[in-house]
Amino acid sequence: MSDPLVLVDPTTASFEFADLAAAQLPVTDHSAHRGDGIFETVLVSMGVDGATVVNRERHFTRFRSSASALELPDPDDGLWDRVIDAIIAEVVAAEPGISEFGIRYAMSRGQQGADGQFRPRGWAFPVPVDDHIRSARAQGVTAVSLDRGFDAYIGSKAPWLLIGAKTLSYAVNQAAGRYAAEHGAEEALFVSHDGVVLEGPTANLIIRRGDRLLTPDPEAGLLAGTTQRLIFERAEEVGLRAEYADLRLEDVKTADAAWFVSSMRTAVALRELDGNAIPVDDELTARFQAIVRAG
Ligand code: PLP
Repeated sequence: MSDPLVLVDPTTASFEFADLAAAQLPVTDHSAHRGDGIFETVLVSMGVDGATVVNRERHFTRFRSSASALELPDPDDGLWDRVIDAIIAEVVAAEPGISEFGIRYAMSRGQQGADGQFRPRGWAFPVPVDDHIRSARAQGVTAVSLDRGFDAYIGSKAPWLLIGAKTLSYAVNQAAGRYAAEHGAEEALFVSHDGVVLEGPTANLIIRRGDRLLTPDPEAGLLAGTTQRLIFERAEEVGLRAEYADLRLEDVKTADAAWFVSSMRTAVALRELDGNAIPVDDELTARFQAIVRAG
């Protein structure tokens, strides 16, 4: 896959192509040493009608609400749309047969100028759907549950925790993934300190119980997922009712099926949690994957 990088200047609403392999970010940028910024990763799915940016609007709406939570400037939708379209054009020109790829776009607080003001900085680049993702889609994953360290529904009392914002501070999420791997699992499943199931470090959880699809309420302390919402919107098509619920680990372990869902994974079966096997519904997994791919 070609690897263009687009550097975005949110202040002048302009952008330019740059070299992804070359250094671009001053170390004094607050994203580099504070993780002070926001991002989105969208799936671009190629079909007979060209490129579909899956959940394009939902991603941008979340980008705006993350900006608002961090008191960053409101992102300009026209600008970021042009950036995404420019990357798609580059990737498709370089690899006309490509079937899908991701685009990661981000905005940092930027550097502090002599006047004390910050000048935000943006960027965007493509990310491949790699073998790791493809094998998780095909084979499902195992997970261990991990304490997220806060009680459910704390977000409204503690807005500084930025729960629900997609920030560039993912060190905890990365550490959870490593911890899971060290303990023989492919994924982590975060649970609030008081026992409410939340999400994976980079994915939402959906379970099936009979004819119901259940997912944790984003207000409980997790990122409102674009993929989860797309699947919920289309649940009736697969004969299921979709509901938000407070789930305990026992609910997941005794579910009829469970999935981690996210933009790049689409839907991945969770086939084992803390050593307990969970039934895998291959047909429904394939339906969910197709629903997400079609956008
Ligand atoms: N939860 C977290 C913490 C995430 O980082 C992500 C995506 O990366 C998700 C959930 C799933 O969100 P989406 O479906 O919008 O990709």
